[in-house]
Amino acid sequence: MGAIQALRGTRDILPEEVCYWQSVEATARDVFSRAVYQEIRPPIFEQTALFERGIGEATDVVGKEMYTFTDRGDRSITLRPEFTAGVVRAYIENKLFAQGGVQRLWYIGPAFRYERPQAGRQRQFHQIGMELIGSSDPRADVEVIALATDLLQSLGLKSLKLDLNSVGTGEDRQNYRSALVEYLTPYQEELDPDSRDRLTRNPLRILDSKDKRTQEIVKDAPNLLDYLGDTSQKHFEQVQQLLKDLGIAYQINPRLVRGLDYYTHTAFEIQSDDLGAQATVCGGGRYDGLVEQLGGASTPAVGWALGMERLILLLQQLQMASPSHPDFYVISKGDRAQNSALILTQKLRALGFRVEFDLSGSAFGKQFKRADRSNATACLVLGEAEIESGTVKLKWMATQEEDAIAQSQLLAMSDELRQRMVR
Ligand code: ATP
Ligand code: MG
Repeated sequence: MGAIQALRGTRDILPEEVCYWQSVEATARDVFSRAVYQEIRPPIFEQTALFERGIGEATDVVGKEMYTFTDRGDRSITLRPEFTAGVVRAYIENKLFAQGGVQRLWYIGPAFRYERPQAGRQRQFHQIGMELIGSSDPRADVEVIALATDLLQSLGLKSLKLDLNSVGTGEDRQNYRSALVEYLTPYQEELDPDSRDRLTRNPLRILDSKDKRTQEIVKDAPNLLDYLGDTSQKHFEQVQQLLKDLGIAYQINPRLVRGLDYYTHTAFEIQSDDLGAQATVCGGGRYDGLVEQLGGASTPAVGWALGMERLILLLQQLQMASPSHPDFYVISKGDRAQNSALILTQKLRALGFRVEFDLSGSAFGKQFKRADRSNATACLVLGEAEIESGTVKLKWMATQEEDAIAQSQLLAMSDELRQRMVR
């Protein structure tokens, strides 16, 4: 019988890669906890209607990419294609607003979209993100952008670009939409099929079409920024000034849009030149209309989501993490020696050391080779002779320096040993 393989668009994160994931997770926890963001863990599947309302039926995600199925109770269920809708649902359902002030939330976990798999694009992928709910202040926009750049910088990624735009208010966009449709309609036949379809459903999304001819046409289209009202203009200027004050470089990209009515003001993306076609690592913005759209009271909010696969591709290019290695590698041969080696191993682990126990009972030479490969800082050796004398041989791998010491003494000198561990 043939072996079963992982589904297309999914992949195993193997031990050699997992150190990168752990390093991103640990850094995110550290950066976010310093900003006093709380982690939230919404369910992986939700009612399909949540995403239809929370992402919008005119988007690619809802229109083409969702994993939707009917469960045994005849409900329409969808695997989350992103987190924001679920987080906002949780905010409303659990009355997190009742705690007063703003809610600062972050999340991490898998999301699912039916897409054509390629480097940095999968069907099960992972996101880290944050939502700041309850403030319309431009400082909130800048706080979340600054925390995204903090995270990326703490991971050692420096050559990333921040694209910034404002999509104004719903009213600003209404005016702009008319102007855009008026400009594009004469070119209708030349647009790519997706864009032609969007001309009536969601014309703003045409601005970020990847099609060459469409891009040429769009180049001379009216500029969204010229349609911002006074309030929007002021918000956008404040965001830019604060970014400058914080020393965060950005460039304005008037074609960076989110097409739906509940998006307002700031939109941004963080990109890397080192990722090929899937250049966007992080995307976000303000969504003042979403909480209301999902049945809550009108509440402003801003947030972003970052694709972990793309981030990890970048870290791997820079070789920014290395797997952990043991402090001690424990070698033993003979029944009694192997038993007492297991006991010693457990005692050292209880003292906080990372200890790998060789189970093979094979020749000492073979076990020493494996100890070398494990990159352990030191080896502990137990044979018949050590059992007779109640000792253990301690060998430092870097210097080959070797000592026989009583087992009880080894445990008593744990502080001194800890100092010598290379981590
Ligand atoms: P793209 O234009 O690359 O499809 P998007 O606009 O659909 O991105 P968002 O919904 O803004 O993406 O999600 C935020 C981030 O999640 C993206 O910037 C990207 O890093 C990551 N992401 C989105 N879809 C995938 C996917 N299928 N596989 C891996 N990462 C993804
Ligand atoms: Mg997409």
